[in-house]
Amino acid sequence: MEKKKLGRPQGGGLVAKTTRYRKIKLPGHPLAQKDGQVYAHRAVLFDKIGPGVHSCHWCGLHIAWGASKRNSILADHVDNDKWNNSPENIVPACYRCNLHRHELKSAPVLKETCIHGHELNGSNLYVRPDNGSRQCRACKQAAFNRLYKKRKNEGEIK
Ligand SMILES: [Zn+2]
Ligand SMILES: [Zn+2]
Repeated sequence: MEKKKLGRPQGGGLVAKTTRYRKIKLPGHPLAQKDGQVYAHRAVLFDKIGPGVHSCHWCGLHIAWGASKRNSILADHVDNDKWNNSPENIVPACYRCNLHRHELKSAPVLKETCIHGHELNGSNLYVRPDNGSRQCRACKQAAFNRLYKKRKNEGEIK
């Protein structure tokens, strides 16, 4: 995958130059931790949207910097690449949407077999194009066959 260009020149300058790093030293920044460090993606987002109350990019919930957990602003990477800190890749997200997106991304990938033990690879693997979930063709076929049999027994299919 080709990386997007980082560090696009912009008004602030300070943050744009440092977007390739996970954490940057910005003592006095509103989001700085005790050691004066700020997560780069959070600094980029702050630079982009400013202080105050914002809406979650995904669900529209009102969220604010430094609010309690569920109403706090999290900086979400739209393309899930945590190293891509260009401003257009970072959006404000609420706790629930951020968590949900990470679960969606990682859970199906870890599965190597379906719940019936068929291997999820090669010709038996079906990836849904709309949401990327991995499904077992053997089980899909079996489910289809069961339905077909049932309908046949009930006389719906001759
Ligand atoms: Zn949300
Ligand atoms: Zn299966």
